This record gives sequence, structure tokens and C-alpha cells, in this order.
Amino acid sequence: MKPASQQDKMNSPSLDPERLRRGLVQYLEDMQHAGINHLIWPSAETIDSSLLGSQQVSSDDTRLGQSEPLEAQARQGSEENRVTGQLPVVDTVAPLGEIQPLSESREDVLAELAKQVAQCTRCPELVANRTQTVFGVGNPYSELVFIGEAPGVDEDKQGEPFVGRAGQLLTAMITNGMGMRREDVYICNILRCRPPNNRTPTREEADRCRPWLDATLAVIQPKYICCLGNVAAQNLLRTDVGIGKLRGKVWEYDRAKVVCTYHPAFLLRNPAMKREAWEDLKLLLQVMGRPVPRRPS
Ligand code: SF4
Repeated sequence: MKPASQQDKMNSPSLDPERLRRGLVQYLEDMQHAGINHLIWPSAETIDSSLLGSQQVSSDDTRLGQSEPLEAQARQGSEENRVTGQLPVVDTVAPLGEIQPLSESREDVLAELAKQVAQCTRCPELVANRTQTVFGVGNPYSELVFIGEAPGVDEDKQGEPFVGRAGQLLTAMITNGMGMRREDVYICNILRCRPPNNRTPTREEADRCRPWLDATLAVIQPKYICCLGNVAAQNLLRTDVGIGKLRGKVWEYDRAKVVCTYHPAFLLRNPAMKREAWEDLKLLLQVMGRPVPRRPS
């Protein structure tokens, strides 16, 4: 049995990754120049079919409103627990659809995206404040992506998300809580630049950075997303509902099932809330069909 990443590569269509990369980057730039902050993946009729190869995007793939409630069955032992989410959506963003050709070399496409992000100057205040941009880290073939808020001081220095104390807690949540390795998942943020004094990102900043997030998710095509904290959950799902109500349910973004939990930095300040976070991780594991380890100490 080959690892999932190798299987993905073996099953991927044979397409020119450089041509694909150029097409994706051009598309992003066109959207930005047009003042479009939310990436809307075009229908098959509006994109060069050579980019899609033999893969055609159906009309279903271009539907609006990705924050649809998901009815998911989460099982633990013999007990069946049905969870249903109903979100008041405050904005609609089309899903990216499935970009199958990118599976030729996701590392290369993400590396190119990271280079483009390093040149991004869409948020002047953040550009003036940043040491460097912080793109993302992890396995580009992972079925699970964690999305946080924005780089902090340590991340800004090192150029990698979740490397400070909150990052250490996230790593412990992944390893001790979920029985996985940090390098098995992909980790990124809503923003790729550190806000001054670690302030909360504005909605406008999140909107400006959204094409980079959407492009990253389009490359990785995760089956599962875990939003860490209010900023990640509200911006991904396009809602003003707070994390306290978003957690404990399963949502849907594009084709990914989404579970929300508290940000590790919040858990460091409020250790009593780790119990709820553990429940969220158990829900995530159940949705992923993975075994639930005993509660970490
Ligand atoms: S936060 Fe995102 S959109 Fe804003 S400057 Fe940084 S990379 Fe660009």
C-alpha cells in the first residue's frame, strides 16, 4: 500500500504543471485587477479548456453559497450522533470547484503561489509592518487543513504559521489529541501578513487575502477543514455567528467538511476551555472516520 501522497501523484492526470501554474496565477491577477476579492472559479465555458484538460467543471461546481449546512453523522462507538448546522450566511462566495490538474505537483504550485504572495502589497499597513509573508506549511496532499487567524510575532520572524506557543499547543492538539503528526496536515491562516500588535484582522484585510487562501485550498483540495477561532471560522464560512455557536457542528465549504474550534492562543489564555476543544477534535476525528484516542492529559 502506497502512502496517500504517492497514490495521488500516481492517479493524477498528466498535465503540464508550469502551464497550469501560469494559468492559475494569471487568473488570480485578473481577478485582483478587476477588484474582485473573492475568487470565483469560472465555469467550463469561461476558462480555457486546455487548462482543465479532460476535466470539465459541471454547472453544479459553480453554484453559489458554499456555507451550506451539512448534515453529518458523527459516530462514536455504537452511539449515533446526528449534527446539523444552519448558518445565516452574510455573503456568498462561489466554491473554487475541483482543480484536478494541479495534482501534478502541488508543491510546485504552492511554492509559486508563495512567491506571488511575498510580492503582495494589497494591505499597505500590513506590508509596512511585516518582516515577511507567512504562506502555509505542511503536506499539500493532506486531506485536512487547519486555518488560523494571522501570523504573530514568532511566525512573522520565522515565516511559518503556528510556531510560537500557540503553535506548540496546536502541534500537541494534532499529535496528542488526534494521533496524527503535524507534518501530516496542512496549516495556514486567513491572513498572510502579521497585523500590527497582533490586532484582529479586519474584514477588509481578510477579503483582500481571500484569493490566496482560496487558491491554496484549490491546490490542496482538502476533504476536511478545521477553523481555529472566530476569525478563521467567520471568514471562511462568511458569517457573523460566533465561534461558540459554530463549534460542535459540521459545516460545509465547497466539498470540504468544516469543524470549528477555539484558537490555540485563546486556549492558552483560557485553559478551562480545552475540554470543549477536545470535544471538537473528537467530532473532527469522527467525521474523518479516524479512531478517537483517549483524552490527552
Ligand atoms: S495580508 Fe494578504 S492580501 Fe494583505 S498584503 Fe499580506 S498577503 Fe497581501
